[in-house]
This record gives sequence, structure tokens and C-alpha cells, in this order.
Amino acid sequence: MSSPITPRPVQKLIEEFGRLPGIGPKTASRLTFFMLRSPRDQAIALAEAILDVKDRVKLCSVCFNTTEDDPCGICSSHDRDREKICAVQEPLDVLALERTGEYRGLYHVLHGAVSPLDGIGPDKLRIKELLTRVEERRGEAPVGEVILATNNDIPGNATAQYIFNQLVKTGVRVTRLASGLPVGGDLEYADEVTLGRALSGRREL
Ligand code: ZN
Repeated sequence: MSSPITPRPVQKLIEEFGRLPGIGPKTASRLTFFMLRSPRDQAIALAEAILDVKDRVKLCSVCFNTTEDDPCGICSSHDRDREKICAVQEPLDVLALERTGEYRGLYHVLHGAVSPLDGIGPDKLRIKELLTRVEERRGEAPVGEVILATNNDIPGNATAQYIFNQLVKTGVRVTRLASGLPVGGDLEYADEVTLGRALSGRREL
């Protein structure tokens, strides 16, 4: 409960900051009073940056990564190894893998992991689109390998297993990142060296 002497706009901003992941009530208040003291330009820059993310960023129609252009820079690049597709849970995982400098293939962003307890079945993810990409081969170099780079936790492993079962009939090589990634940890938080090693040491499923 905010005190009745807190102006409504202040209350509202505290409330909105408080809805962001990892932001508790104290931090929400601190951010709000920081914005209150900031120059107007800074507030406008923040508001515009938030709107730009919503208005200008879309999903690539090939790999479903976030992008301003469709297809995205990676899908339309001629420097990438088009025989490999690395399947990840979230767009941030693409950033993490790119930082390793170890991977030159394409990506496929699933947008989550299978989690029956949360009501997330395979149909809620971009799995069908991945299978279509492998089967259609998009008229270019055929897909030779799908690397399953989902998180090393129960939903991540269940997702990898599900996709493997679907892909096995296509005859494509399916690999999984080597163990060594923190169990239960998100891929995006793994350091570059560990992630690079997990990638180069990937194993056949
Ligand atoms: Zn793409």
C-alpha cells in the first residue's frame, strides 16, 4: 500500500517497475525516484526505447529470433554455415552462443521449453517450424546437423528429447551440448569458455 501522500503518477511508475522481472518493491521505488530527479530527455529516451522494442522488433520468419529485418541478419548472411541449425530456448541464448565465437551455423529459437506442469506442451513452441525447416531444406544446402542447445534442466532436457524423437525419422544428425553446463542453470548465464567447450564437445544423440 502506498501512502496517500504519494502522488498518483509516482505510485503508478513504482507499480510498473515492480512488474519487471527481478525488481522488488524497494528497487522499484529507487528507480522511480531516480527518474523523478532525471532530466526530461532521459525519461523520453527510456520511454522511446521501450516503445521501439515493441514497435520495431519482430520475429524472424525463418529462425524466430528477434530482429528488425525479416529474415534476420544471421538467416540472410552468406558467411554462415547453412548446414547446421542450433535450437535454443530464448533469443538471449543466441547472444550467448554468438559471444563464444565458436559457432558459425544458423539458429532456431523455440521460445520456451516443454513443461507439462505449466501447461506448456510442444505445440506451444516453435518445434513444428524447426521440423519443417529440416524437412524442406529450404531449397539450399541441406540441413546436416541440428544441435539441441536447450537448458540443462528438466524442461530443457525434455524438449531436447522430444525434438530428437521427431527428427530421428528425417535421418539428420542430432547432437546435444556436452555436459559441463551448470545443471538447472540457464544457457544465457553460462560463461563463454564453458559454453564454447560445451558446443565443441557436443555429442551425438
Ligand atoms: Zn532468422
